Amino acid sequence: MKIDHIVPPHIRALDAYPPGKPIEELERELGITDSIKLASNENPLGASPKALTAIRSVLAGINRYPDGGGFYLRRALASHFGISPTGVVIGNGSNELIELAVRTFLQPGDEAVMAEQAFAIYHLVVQAHGARFTQVPLRNYTHDLHAIADALRPSTRMVFLANPNNPTGTIFFKSEWEDFLSAVSENTIIVMDEAYAEFVGDPRYPDSLAALREGRPIIILRTFSKAYGLAGLRVGYALTLPELADMMDRVRAPFNVNLLSQAAALAALDDDEHVQRTREINDEGLKFLCDALRTRGIEFVPSWANFLMVRVGHGRRVYDSLLRQGVIVRPMDFYGFPEFVRITIGLASENERLLQALDCTLAGEGASSAAV
Ligand SMILES: *Cc1c(COP(=O)(O)O)cnc(C)c1O
Repeated sequence: MKIDHIVPPHIRALDAYPPGKPIEELERELGITDSIKLASNENPLGASPKALTAIRSVLAGINRYPDGGGFYLRRALASHFGISPTGVVIGNGSNELIELAVRTFLQPGDEAVMAEQAFAIYHLVVQAHGARFTQVPLRNYTHDLHAIADALRPSTRMVFLANPNNPTGTIFFKSEWEDFLSAVSENTIIVMDEAYAEFVGDPRYPDSLAALREGRPIIILRTFSKAYGLAGLRVGYALTLPELADMMDRVRAPFNVNLLSQAAALAALDDDEHVQRTREINDEGLKFLCDALRTRGIEFVPSWANFLMVRVGHGRRVYDSLLRQGVIVRPMDFYGFPEFVRITIGLASENERLLQALDCTLAGEGASSAAV
């Protein structure tokens, strides 16, 4: 067998997405049981207690297929955002909705545009589909909407924006978004990934839903994986025009969101208290870490989300050293930031442990570079 003869070149050229290291894996490798994971922007408080109760109450029903149309969850989301249920698509994480958008609206050879250092899934999915992509550099670690608008051609089918951006945690503002909307053709689909929207308290944060209500072809992506604490269940949703939702629905696998996930998401959506506490813990932790880093003279990118990109010198080496101390963060070389690691804000005790480990690591780094 010759793999080159069997696999198309655009698939062979793909790099696999490197996810955060699972806790179990590290503990297996180190033979320890008390590691912490600050690597995948998960909710450190855990799942919404209401979601856990909801899962227990439907558990005995898993011999049946779930509601393929996700009726109750879509209806609840629609009422939460004040749009029609026909404009809501649910997915196996918002990751699936990124794929669904690409498979629905791009033909092989079509072009999509995205920032160079935005969520890596965008270009991987576009590439896997046999479509083309153009990447626009960030400016000051932030989406440069003017440059992105300039990069759009009449043939550009889709543009991806992440607000807040992952891995930088930065946002673009209302005024830039409004300029962008007036510069972009009404036939270009804007995929607006707002996975961390629940964490943003800034009044300058754009209201993408308003533009959707005006009839622009926007696909707003949100998720239950971050603020709602349901990453393991894989539920995300898209808010879009009913005409676009209808097309995505035709491409979607019939039972893409499972029965437990639908019940949990429905309950979590109603758990304002949990989201509120999550936000508070995050605000406190973010402030604590930023203050501590400033005190130490360590640079970081100001964040509007639940993670922080920190300039540590040799990101990969620092990542490895933290791992050996039972702390999982994320190296950023894959994103073209080799001097950084990305750290998810944890509980107060986790943030303190991270800092101790980082101090230890950087003291060692200082010693080793002094020795060279
Ligand atoms: C975490 C994240 C997602 C969410 O992925 P799910 O598939 O919903 O878990 C989407 N976009 C960005 C930018 C993210 O960081």
